[in-house]
Amino acid sequence: MLYKRSSQLFAEAEKVIPGGVNSPVRAFKAVGGTPIFVKSAKGAYLYDEDGNRLIDYINSWGPMILGHAFEPVVQAVIEKAKLGTSFGMPTELETQIAALAVSMVPNIEKIRFVNSGTEACMSAVRLARGFTKKDKIIKFAGCYHGHSDSFLIQAGSGAITFGSPNSPGVTAGTAKDTLLAKYNDLENVATLIEANKNEIAAIIVEPVAGNMGCIPPNKGFLEGLRQLCTDNGILLIFDEVMTGFRLAAGGVQELFNINADIVCFGKVIGGGLPVGAFAAREEIMNYLAPLGPVYQAGTLSGNPLAMAAGLAMLQALDEDRAIFKRLEEKTAYLAAGMEKVLKANNVVFTINRIGSMVSVHFDGAPVIDFQSAAKGDNETFKKFFHGLLQEGIYIAPSAYETWFITDALSYEDLDFTIQAVDKVSKTF
Ligand SMILES: *Cc1c(COP(=O)(O)O)cnc(C)c1O
Repeated sequence: MLYKRSSQLFAEAEKVIPGGVNSPVRAFKAVGGTPIFVKSAKGAYLYDEDGNRLIDYINSWGPMILGHAFEPVVQAVIEKAKLGTSFGMPTELETQIAALAVSMVPNIEKIRFVNSGTEACMSAVRLARGFTKKDKIIKFAGCYHGHSDSFLIQAGSGAITFGSPNSPGVTAGTAKDTLLAKYNDLENVATLIEANKNEIAAIIVEPVAGNMGCIPPNKGFLEGLRQLCTDNGILLIFDEVMTGFRLAAGGVQELFNINADIVCFGKVIGGGLPVGAFAAREEIMNYLAPLGPVYQAGTLSGNPLAMAAGLAMLQALDEDRAIFKRLEEKTAYLAAGMEKVLKANNVVFTINRIGSMVSVHFDGAPVIDFQSAAKGDNETFKKFFHGLLQEGIYIAPSAYETWFITDALSYEDLDFTIQAVDKVSKTF
């Protein structure tokens, strides 16, 4: 495959956009080479500027769970656009998507929409601090909650890839209120709580981690966090920006039957438009302005195009709950197929999977936290990435990313992918 036009477009982009991209991980820094410029996408496939067709395993980093250019979403956006694209005034659509989200997700009574996952997590933490009247938060190494200051303390994927877990520009004052814990290590969390008695407002966690590869919680980990929070007057924030409306209609809360106090959404909830949201029981959400003292706002929040896209997406998921089972089966099929060929080719690897999230790590030890995820062999990953690309398969250009399976993928696509993994891994 040739990427002549993509390379030219990248060179032009670099002149006017830092690194040629509007989000760092797109830049291929971790794998070498130049990024591919997309022209269009439909279903399971991307079509690039050089006319190549690629099977897509990123799917806009999660949102396109039903495939690209999903017809009901596209139609909803077109119809809404004709009626005006932004008003800065309430619309009925906002209540409709809010009511649907609240009905699908357990344990939430009110939801507020914002424009990104970053904004959702940032606002959730402010709300938790306002509600508990405490300052500190606990986050886990390798978990990513967007790029707002208090989270750039050993964040996942992008931040790891670029070796700047503590970004310049984040002040020491901000960093001191973020305590860092080890994923899947309850004892570590308990120790931190003990050392900061009555100072911790919230524990924020990806209940299934997806930004250091895919790392499911160990048995008892989330239950333990819930208990520690309840015992110590700490709010438990589930960052379900990646897992919400993906692992189940009600996200990880439903999957593992655990109640968080505040839940953050993004990605799927926007159907591919810029949307985030955070939700909780009424008592907590009523702490937000204009009802309560915690300020949070947004000129384009609840934007009609974004809400139309999100509503069409949630309706599709709500009406056909079998989607989640289908996705799980496809992902299990892919994982089993890859496992078989990688084994046959004597590759040292670990595959993690849950629902429609899967990741391949080039290390033999169990991948359960940031430390074990970081052990993966990046040289092998680079060969894997570029080899698959040559075969017309697009996975994330970083070893720390999860693959997102979409319902648009056929079993032929999955078989083709498994054969490509076989071919590529013979060259390691
Ligand atoms: C993607 C992601 C975010 C950030 O969302 P943006 O829309 O990129 O700001 C936050 N948390 C998790 C778990 C994510 O995967």
